Amino acid sequence: MVELLRRQGVSGVVLNAMMQVKRHLFAPPSLSDQAYGDYPLPIGEGQTISAPHMVALMCDYLELNKGEKVLEIGAGSGYHAAVIAEIIGEEGQVYSIERIKWLVEFSTENLKRAGYKNVTVILADGTLGLPEYAPYDKISVTCAAPDVPPPLLEQLKTGGKMVIPIGRYRQTLYVVEKKNGVKREGKCDVVFVPLVGRYGFKEYQDD
Ligand code: SAH
Repeated sequence: MVELLRRQGVSGVVLNAMMQVKRHLFAPPSLSDQAYGDYPLPIGEGQTISAPHMVALMCDYLELNKGEKVLEIGAGSGYHAAVIAEIIGEEGQVYSIERIKWLVEFSTENLKRAGYKNVTVILADGTLGLPEYAPYDKISVTCAAPDVPPPLLEQLKTGGKMVIPIGRYRQTLYVVEKKNGVKREGKCDVVFVPLVGRYGFKEYQDD
């Protein structure tokens, strides 16, 4: 898989991080033997850990640098946050928002077991962002949104980048750049679970 990603042009920095993070520590125990296949894994309640190649591509599009402050929406298992943390190093900080309480516990436990101290998982509606620690150098949205939630754009630094899948059933993965206005570039077709919340898809809301 690493060879395939290298051929697709994924940077060495991202590939090194992918090789450091032990995905089996983030999979449910019954699926840990499948942790190194390049496909999404179910983590319960219809949620999934993204396929490794998708995590790699999203990190690559963000052009992460050491020491950055990154906001993730959708902690899930904590795997994607761990890859980001590996790239930005101990001097960087990841804040990851998750709306399902037991997934906050699951991801926090997994990240602790894997030794990541620079990731904080927070129970909240990620469509509102996390104004306490804003602005962010980069924002990674790991669920499908109807459009860019305005609070996330506000909380992105000038010069910062966001990756976000936009669309209902199938989505386009966009890179949004805030620099002399806002520039959006569609990169590829993707399939993510829906973003639920104030600026998410209302029909999936059950609370
Ligand atoms: N990044 C994760 C995979 C995320 S799956 C990983 O590496 O494992 C998408 C996650 O987004 C799910 O856990 C889902 O509960 C969460 N989610 C959906 N809407 C959300 C919202 N408004 N705020 C925070 N999390 C949300």
